[in-house]
Amino acid sequence: MARKKAPTGRDAFELYYSDIFGSRWPSLRQALLGDPRQTGWAEHLVEPYYLDTGSVAAARALPPGGKNVLDLCAAPGGKTLVLAGSLDADGELTANEYSRERRARLATVVERYLPPETAARVRITGYDGSRWSRFETLCRDRILLDVPCSSERHVLASEQHLAAWSPARIRNLVFRQWALLSGAWLVLAPDGYLVYATCALSPEENDGVVRKLVKKYPDVSIIFPEADSHPDLAHHVPEKTDFGTMIMPDSSSGSGPLYFALVKKNR
Ligand code: SAM
Repeated sequence: MARKKAPTGRDAFELYYSDIFGSRWPSLRQALLGDPRQTGWAEHLVEPYYLDTGSVAAARALPPGGKNVLDLCAAPGGKTLVLAGSLDADGELTANEYSRERRARLATVVERYLPPETAARVRITGYDGSRWSRFETLCRDRILLDVPCSSERHVLASEQHLAAWSPARIRNLVFRQWALLSGAWLVLAPDGYLVYATCALSPEENDGVVRKLVKKYPDVSIIFPEADSHPDLAHHVPEKTDFGTMIMPDSSSGSGPLYFALVKKNR
């Protein structure tokens, strides 16, 4: 008997997300088709860098300070700039990006937007982040893990991406996200903090991946950061999930979607 082909394309996409969001989906889809809400982030920068305000919130969820900070999936570099501004005076930041082209962009962003004395404390590397724990373990006091994800905003904006969409795409991404998160966990030092972030709506890529971490490791503490009081982020309406926070474009004036979970490694 011939195997039934999994549904793909626009109809499958609609079905998948309306199943998750129910009556909220039409307004959420509408908000995704609108312009993202951006801010010209300027703190500790030479000139403002424009990025989604949800991205700023995710980067700022990592407690400030840190001597040995790792941004494991860093290009094009918006969150790297936010992190660089909150390093300890003697802190150092490694900004890693696997793609050669995107790494070149990251290097340009770091050079252009950070003051030279801060840029000197940022090292750019080009490894596969899921293998980082082969080189070092238990040593980074802060890790930002902003993983490759579904990015439904971009899927919806492109007929080509919509036509190619299938639930298998999400399963593949979850596989890669878990490889990155489980590897990063081995790199995090005791008492260290990790932020796992996506710009995906799909709960499988968000709480679903963090749930695997909570189940696998006994030394995981989930922390819910205080609502961000920064003026740039005042319009956000953060939505709490099982393990993290969602910023959704329909409720936060166009920001996001952005999911982030703050995790601490118990000693
Ligand atoms: N943090 C970035 C920012 O704020 O500008 C956005 C990061 S984007 C969501 C994810 C990045 O991870 C992409 O640039 C992608 O090329 C990179 N990436 C994908 N797989 C990777 C891997 N195994 N190791 C390191 N980087 C990876």
